[in-house]
Amino acid sequence: MALIFVTRKIPDIGIKWMRDGGHEVVVSEKDRVLTPKELKAELSSRPYEGVVSLLTDTIDEKVLKAAPSVKIVSNYAVGYNNIDVEAMEDAGVVVTNTPGVLTDTVAEYATALILAVAKRIPEADKFTRAGKYKAWAPELLLGSDLAGKKLGIVGAGRIGQGVARRLSIGFGMDVIYYDIAKNEKLEKKMDCEYCGELEVLLKQADVVSLHVPLLPSTKHLINAERLAMMKSSAYLINTSRGPVIDESALVAALKDGTIRGAGLDVFEDEPKLARGLKSLNNVVITPHIASASEETRDKMSQLVAFNMNEFFLGREVPNMVFKK
Ligand code: NAD
Repeated sequence: MALIFVTRKIPDIGIKWMRDGGHEVVVSEKDRVLTPKELKAELSSRPYEGVVSLLTDTIDEKVLKAAPSVKIVSNYAVGYNNIDVEAMEDAGVVVTNTPGVLTDTVAEYATALILAVAKRIPEADKFTRAGKYKAWAPELLLGSDLAGKKLGIVGAGRIGQGVARRLSIGFGMDVIYYDIAKNEKLEKKMDCEYCGELEVLLKQADVVSLHVPLLPSTKHLINAERLAMMKSSAYLINTSRGPVIDESALVAALKDGTIRGAGLDVFEDEPKLARGLKSLNNVVITPHIASASEETRDKMSQLVAFNMNEFFLGREVPNMVFKK
């Protein structure tokens, strides 16, 4: 039996699974993000061996110092940029994530953002609610079509491929992709073309959708210079991690028409938004909810519990992550 701390309430099923696994599970009583000080205080208050962390928790060397008995950090997310994996590895602490269970949900969400911004749905909704709809008009709120246009996937992993499939089969878009390596298997599965350089993709794509993990190599992958390479009619969609885009540069590009629009679920300094972002009509912004379906959040809860239980049973740990 292990003593496990959950930094914020997650769907009950995972808590139950860990308790059924014989563990004592303590869930933070504060249903909000703990400050680094609070997190360290909680973790040093008892000899915790397992931690269920969220993407809003920074798990680094300082946290480990406060919690020397911790053996495993089971992150409730597929992205794990909130964890200093190298420091964990050095200290012999196992880190796990929740890949796969959220792929369809996030791919659906990215698709929804593409449609929302290209068809101007939030803008039209606001317009209609404001009582501005007086009569049908030939040039009212004109958006863009997707059929026959080019979708550029940046990071053709699980979610990137899910978006490519949906937009290609469902909406008739031609897919190009950029990744650190050409994916022959993907190219056999679906009609798509590899761009060996990001710049090549940016110059051609009508919609650019970002699906890379946040790493030192992907921070500000989309900056002012690269935004300037995009078509002025193009849309940029981000459901990966905020710092992949230089958000101030994006605000400038949306303002001066460098690109046509953007759909963002993630932000550089969440929950803050870059100055000027929220007053723009050509951007759809949502509060990091791409994986937030009832079904998926339950599955993520089950998976963090499964990772934890398997570890304490001494079995091969599923979904373990390593430093890149
Ligand atoms: P994945 O590992 O299957 O795919 C990531 C892809 O990015 C891989 O193909 C990888 O080769 C590629 N990549 C890595 N570094 C790159 C680089 N420098 N340039 C180009 N490509 C690079 O991961 P996934 O399950 O598809 O998830 C992708 C990311 O989506 C996660 O890391 C996470 O940050 C984010 N995410 C966000 C939400 C949300 O709520 N908005 C939900 C789930 C996942």
